[in-house]
Amino acid sequence: QKSSPGQPEFYQAVEEVLESLEPLFAKEKQYLEHNIIERIIEPERQIMFRVAWIDDQGKVQVNKGYRIEFNSAIGPYKGGLRFHPSVSSGIIKFLGFEQIFKNSLTGLAIGGGKGGSDFDPKGKSNNEIMRFCQSFMNELYRHIGPTTDVPAGDIGVGAREIGYMFGQYKRLTGRYEGVFTGKKIPWGGSLARTEATGYGTVYFAQNMLTTSGQALEGKTCVVSGAGNVAIYTIEKLYQNCALPVTCSDSRGFIYHKSGINLETLKQLKETESACLSKYAEIHTDAVYTPVSSYPAGRNAVWSVPCELAFPCATQNELNQADARELLKNGCILVAEGANMPSTPEAVEEFLNAKIMYAPGKAANAGGVATSQLEMAQNASMIQWSFDEVDVRLKTIMKNIYVTASETANEFGQPHNLVLGANIAGFRKVADAMIDQGVV
Ligand code: NDP
Repeated sequence: QKSSPGQPEFYQAVEEVLESLEPLFAKEKQYLEHNIIERIIEPERQIMFRVAWIDDQGKVQVNKGYRIEFNSAIGPYKGGLRFHPSVSSGIIKFLGFEQIFKNSLTGLAIGGGKGGSDFDPKGKSNNEIMRFCQSFMNELYRHIGPTTDVPAGDIGVGAREIGYMFGQYKRLTGRYEGVFTGKKIPWGGSLARTEATGYGTVYFAQNMLTTSGQALEGKTCVVSGAGNVAIYTIEKLYQNCALPVTCSDSRGFIYHKSGINLETLKQLKETESACLSKYAEIHTDAVYTPVSSYPAGRNAVWSVPCELAFPCATQNELNQADARELLKNGCILVAEGANMPSTPEAVEEFLNAKIMYAPGKAANAGGVATSQLEMAQNASMIQWSFDEVDVRLKTIMKNIYVTASETANEFGQPHNLVLGANIAGFRKVADAMIDQGVV
């Protein structure tokens, strides 16, 4: 930790991965001989830059920009851009590190990367967002390309922001190419990319349930978040006759016992960018609880009784006390749509209780997998139908589940998908690094 202080999320992610790799290192010596651990935790390249832009009052504002190109052993760097005031070099580093193993698990040829800015899109006008994105791209464009590094969206970055950045890239380079994924359909996007992370998370849960002889139908589900991942998790749960009863944002959460109204949620979050309190004004049988009323040290959304839980907001949003509450209320499955939403202590609770637990790097890999399908469509200049992409997504999620659980079995811990996902993801990248020599 001495060489990079102040990056707690990065150390948390590294610790989790290295701990679960111990059985692999005990069995297969080549990884230690080639010093893969020290090599894999060091990013190949980190770019930090100034993003100066002019607000609507004519004042110059300055934010920090980041892109981390973590590992390219199995393909070009791939990973989203996050715009959120909490973004720091440690957050981007943890996300980039996780991305290496997630991308490897998809079975596709994509390396790990991530980026973003501490810019807060909340309350900004369209023009301010555009000027910020253009300024961000004025530096980033020289580091990315369709066969080198292909960014996408994440928290605070959706199709609008991708559009502004793609437009500026095109203007600076004079090239129309698949340098971003998450684009809108008329200018190179893939059908089903918007839905892919949420849908994929539910497909993953479905695979776990089927193995244990159960189904989604009739199950009460607690979902956190109200953004891209949460919305399409809720949509797919409804399509499978499950009942999602909650959603949340950074200001509070909604409990709607008869089921979250998806149309209202989409209208509030995708069109109006409104606060969730407005949901309870529209649906008077729903209850809105603001963060200020949460019990100390708790995220109150996890107190709602459920059989299935889908954390889809952000990192460390579910701690040990939350996990205990979920277990006490009879939760049998947790599938993570967000990246690292459960703290290490919460994960331990789930593993000790032997419930079905899917870590984010396996359960939410459907988004990046579909991004790779978008790259494939761009490269071949064709567009697949929604169903074609969705069928491929389903197959990829099934393969990830099978790979993670077979690997967990191989190491004698059939329940432990954290171990299974980490070992399977790591092995492919580490083998490629050995094949490619010391670079
Ligand atoms: P969005 O920006 O669309 O939505 C994020 C949601 O989480 C919003 O409801 C937001 O509330 C809430 N949120 C964000 N930060 C916090 C916080 N600090 N405390 C409480 N709530 C918070 O992002 P996505 O849905 O795209 O991403 C959600 C998670 O899924 C992230 O962890 C992301 O890395 C992960 N992910 C996303 C993928 C994708 O394809 N989009 C792919 C794989 C993983 P508010 O609106 O109030 O800020």
